[in-house]
Amino acid sequence: MSRFLNGCFQGLSPYVPGEQPQDKSYIKLNTNESPYPPSPAVVEAITKGEIEALRLYGDPDCAALKRALAERLGTGTENIFVGNGSDEVLSFIFMGFCGERGASFPDISYGFYPVYAQLYGIRSRQVPLRGDFSLCPEDYCVDDSTVVIANPNAPTGLCISPERVEDMLKSRSDRLVVVDEAYVDFGGESCAELTRSYDNLIVVQTFSKSRSLAGARLGFAVANGELISDLERLRCSTNPYNINRLTMLAGEAALKSQGYYDANVKRIVSTRQETAGCLRDMGFELTDSRANFLFARHPGIGGEKLYLDLKERGILVRHFSKPRIDSYVRITVGDAEQMKALCRALKEMTDNA
Ligand SMILES: *Cc1c(COP(=O)(O)O)cnc(C)c1O
Repeated sequence: MSRFLNGCFQGLSPYVPGEQPQDKSYIKLNTNESPYPPSPAVVEAITKGEIEALRLYGDPDCAALKRALAERLGTGTENIFVGNGSDEVLSFIFMGFCGERGASFPDISYGFYPVYAQLYGIRSRQVPLRGDFSLCPEDYCVDDSTVVIANPNAPTGLCISPERVEDMLKSRSDRLVVVDEAYVDFGGESCAELTRSYDNLIVVQTFSKSRSLAGARLGFAVANGELISDLERLRCSTNPYNINRLTMLAGEAALKSQGYYDANVKRIVSTRQETAGCLRDMGFELTDSRANFLFARHPGIGGEKLYLDLKERGILVRHFSKPRIDSYVRITVGDAEQMKALCRALKEMTDNA
């Protein structure tokens, strides 16, 4: 650390992303990417001419992409905010809406929430999930701090219904609720429609998971127009060209390929169910995941050992050395062949355990 870093950042512990090994080729089931490529329309949109046009700045308003998103969601463009990955959207949300009020989020959820809270000096309350990892909205009703939840939650994959989110919105209209729907396409129910009736809700989604664009960095928020213009104020005071030209084109093309992505999601969900069955047969306990990952533990093998032994066999999964969940691993649902290889490896390991 240099002697020039501001004191307020000296204790900051950054988010630790899943490994992205650049050396040997692993079966990569550790960062919830899609096993399938972006749609053919996306590949075609990135032409030589568009690459040459990179000498020019892109549209700072992202107008075409916002129109396509608004049409898909049945809202106006004034209800859409786009960011460089949903991580950036969440960053602006913590920056803008949690300062004086503070933030509340589950003790077991997306690891970036506490990092943003720390980065912006936000008072935060980590609300324990119940013993079975379920989330109880009533646990968040004790103050007016901004509530941030992932639905489906990560890394548990568990959901709550939009009706229960609506109860939260109704019970205190002076409290903002942020629902991070990174995994909603794999079996959750979206709260996006509720943004038409409630001005204290922001729904965040991403193109990284179901739309196979993790490397393009594209996420968005849907909310009441005033919340969106607040976010625009922060974005234009930080980086008005936050979405690069090629990513805008990729996002628009992806929105025109709904059938392609629906088919991929269907395959991933059926592979998830099959894999869950295989793991249960080997004695694993699993949560009822509605996401593109499984969250599993084995009574005879610890979480860290599962992670390390799989890595030795060329398969990467994610392990969190964190109280309550350190016996588990999170396994991204890849394609059928990758999951067969996973099941073979786990079978050897559990037979020898
Ligand atoms: C993957 C993920 C994100 C971040 O997605 P990007 O759009 O790639 O930044 C946000 N929230 C949750 C819960 C995630 O799992």
